[in-house]
Amino acid sequence: MRRQTIDPRIRTKVIATYGNRCWLNMPGCSITATEDDHIVPYSHGGRDTVANIRRACKHCNAMRQDRVLSGYGATLHAVIGPPRADFGMAMQSMLRRDSIVVSFDSLLRDLCPTQSKATDGLRLAAAMAWDGAARTLAKSSEPLDVWLVRTLPRSRRHPDMLAEWLALDYDVHVIETPADSTFALDLTPQEYRTAQQWYALHLTQQAVDARLAARRQRLAALGLRRDIPAERPRW
Ligand SMILES: [Zn+2]
Repeated sequence: MRRQTIDPRIRTKVIATYGNRCWLNMPGCSITATEDDHIVPYSHGGRDTVANIRRACKHCNAMRQDRVLSGYGATLHAVIGPPRADFGMAMQSMLRRDSIVVSFDSLLRDLCPTQSKATDGLRLAAAMAWDGAARTLAKSSEPLDVWLVRTLPRSRRHPDMLAEWLALDYDVHVIETPADSTFALDLTPQEYRTAQQWYALHLTQQAVDARLAARRQRLAALGLRRDIPAERPRW
């Protein structure tokens, strides 16, 4: 059960310390905060303390749900790249023995070993399995090491997944295969369409890193950057 109100003195102190601008800044943010957002969600035992509350707008508060800020529970990574990118190769040196990998390609392979024969129905099933696993793990209060792997960082429900990941401090890795190498492959029509969409996004690691650095600066100012242990909320 979610408590609706916090002690107004705590809210006043939070606003005085961290301001009243929405801390989440997810896509569609209305900037001015109207809600008290628990950094460690109430459902995870996060308390109504100045350390654990930041102000958020209604839109972002609802969009976040109970997803954790990476490191406050699960640590989250996202790896994106064009169709046929070698995700395994890109990740092998970074994965831990106990890392959890949620990969659209692997899920589709499990459902349909011959990927070129994957019907739209099977692709949808794999996409829904990916969404369900990602959504559940993104809320985990356990210290899991979670890797979300897919091609396009968007879906119908999350048109700008990348911005949501950056807001919640995920490590985002972009596999930069040159367009001519990808299009030289024997792509299925589906992969060809996805590749066109991928390259239209012009995603580069450098651009993502710049956004992540700006976000981490903001999180540090909010006392929330996870590599500053002294500033972590106590709960
Ligand atoms: Zn907002």
